[in-house]
Amino acid sequence: MKRNRVWVLCLALAVFLASACDSGGGGGGTSGATAADYQYLYAMNAFELGGHTIRWPSNVISVSPGDVPGVAESFNRWSTATGGAVSFVYTGGGANVSVHYGSSGGCGVTHVAFTGAGVISSVAVTIEPNQAYCDGGLSATVSHEAGHAIGFLGHDTTGMMHPFRAGPITSQQANMIRLLYSLPPGTDITGRMRTKVAYRANKYNASGGRIYHLVIRRACRR
Ligand SMILES: [Zn+2]
Repeated sequence: MKRNRVWVLCLALAVFLASACDSGGGGGGTSGATAADYQYLYAMNAFELGGHTIRWPSNVISVSPGDVPGVAESFNRWSTATGGAVSFVYTGGGANVSVHYGSSGGCGVTHVAFTGAGVISSVAVTIEPNQAYCDGGLSATVSHEAGHAIGFLGHDTTGMMHPFRAGPITSQQANMIRLLYSLPPGTDITGRMRTKVAYRANKYNASGGRIYHLVIRRACRR
């Protein structure tokens, strides 16, 4: 009798856990994502749109390397780290992401334009020609800016997305991009974080309408 009751309790718990995991829905491949994963996604991406995600509409992103050497190698690190959650094709003009040399006010700067519906519409990456003062040099700077170009809109305290130190793409950073690209653009994740956060005034607008601009800079080594 007692044993039966324990069984029922376990079953109820299993059903509860399953439904908690499934509650996100939409996009698939996210059933393993935890509240902490969504909190990180919010801090590094969705905070810019009142808790709605911001990404390219396709996970295949075209890149124009311009006059900067080694762009493909640096961008492809993200493809490798995420197990192909994002991938890149390299073209001439008219690409989603354009990379070029120019004055950046640091090591590199990325301009991200996105719609109020959470769709990135264009990205321009400017790489400082003199990388002597940049940790990890040219390849680290381009990989870092590539992170911004695909939707990593904040900075981390460690790894590739540190504001000025070179490092590898951490598993948390790779998982964030994987989670981002498993959800449709503009997905509201505020209900999945299990926490109360001070949301910014919500700029989200399902019809897209307005275009927002972000400028994110990689600083010199300190
Ligand atoms: Zn940066």
